[in-house]
Amino acid sequence: MTSDVRPLLDDCVHCGFCLPTCPTYQLWGEEPDSPRGRILLMDLVDKGELAVTDTVVEHWDRCLGCMACVTSCPSGVRYDALIESTRAKVDREYRRPRSDRWRRSALFAVLPYHRRLRPAAYALALHLPAPKIAPRRKLSAIRQQPPARTPAAGEPRMKVAMLLGCVQRAFFGDVNAATARVLGAYGCEVLAPRDQGCCGALELHAGRAPAGPRRTALLDRLGALGVDRIVVNSAGCGSALKEADHPAAALVRDVHEVLAELGPPRRLGRLDLRVAYHDACHLGHAQGVRAAPRAVLAAIPGVQLLEVPDAEICCGSAGVYNLLQPDAARDLGRRKAAAIDALHADVIAAANPGCLIQISAYLERHVPTLHPVQLVDRALRAG
Ligand code: SF4
Ligand code: SF4
Repeated sequence: MTSDVRPLLDDCVHCGFCLPTCPTYQLWGEEPDSPRGRILLMDLVDKGELAVTDTVVEHWDRCLGCMACVTSCPSGVRYDALIESTRAKVDREYRRPRSDRWRRSALFAVLPYHRRLRPAAYALALHLPAPKIAPRRKLSAIRQQPPARTPAAGEPRMKVAMLLGCVQRAFFGDVNAATARVLGAYGCEVLAPRDQGCCGALELHAGRAPAGPRRTALLDRLGALGVDRIVVNSAGCGSALKEADHPAAALVRDVHEVLAELGPPRRLGRLDLRVAYHDACHLGHAQGVRAAPRAVLAAIPGVQLLEVPDAEICCGSAGVYNLLQPDAARDLGRRKAAAIDALHADVIAAANPGCLIQISAYLERHVPTLHPVQLVDRALRAG
């Protein structure tokens, strides 16, 4: 009998071109912690020649799901689909040690719900003790939220629905508010209904079953608004929604794609800043959106874009990875932060809340970390 993933597994010719771009292979140099090694483990399990043991699951768990291997594979191997299917199988069939089960249950009892995250956002803003990677945002940043409807400035060019998210909504209300303002200024009527749920991305990337219904319910809600586009400003959420088997998935765009499509309004003001742009993995590798954010930032007069060395390597945030695999995440975070520190940028821009939190935590000197739309928002005010 052939399994669903058999054709995908057979696409891998074991050439190893993906190995140098894999963060965990870079860290440890071990074949089972490379894409090729993980695919071999999937292959053996699928053939019934290997059991799903603690060790096998550990190698799959150590994968960040960053999809650098998808970008670098010349044979077009769908590692994204393979690891998603593998994680769902592990979630269904493998009994994790009790402490791991509790940790995951606790995380996913909170993460998809912005109302449950909100007290944590306030507690951190008030400087209660917390781990280094905990996101400390200013109260003023958390409190901002976009209006349910933002009218287009001038002649409307597009009607869009905006995803508010869960982590984004609880911790980065300022990014959501800036996104709505910028889209409005670029000619969009923006609908941001309060009664929208989570897209399920964090659960989906961890292989958890509730992700599917959550994503469907969200696309039902936003798709019913009769909009031209569903706009997402968080890379992980965008890739999860674009992949969905749902008619509204075809409407989903990353915010930079929409801004690049519409072009800047004439009144963009000057910002004399050296900006290091960090490619979030779920934007660059998973969605292939690399040019649009750069074009959006480069359109701001005075902005000098700096490229981060080894841009294809993940910063270690990767959804809940920095909570579940803290040692590897810390090592990757330090490497990324050191590469960015060396650029002496005035601002670091990234389009994913996890990346912003992770990079901020490991920088040697304080540099503001912003979503690119926040810089566009500033340029609009300066115009
Ligand atoms: S995943 Fe692609 S690049 Fe990596 S070993 Fe297989 S065929 Fe080669
Ligand atoms: S998704 Fe990232 S961490 Fe996982 S195997 Fe591919 S390159 Fe390595």
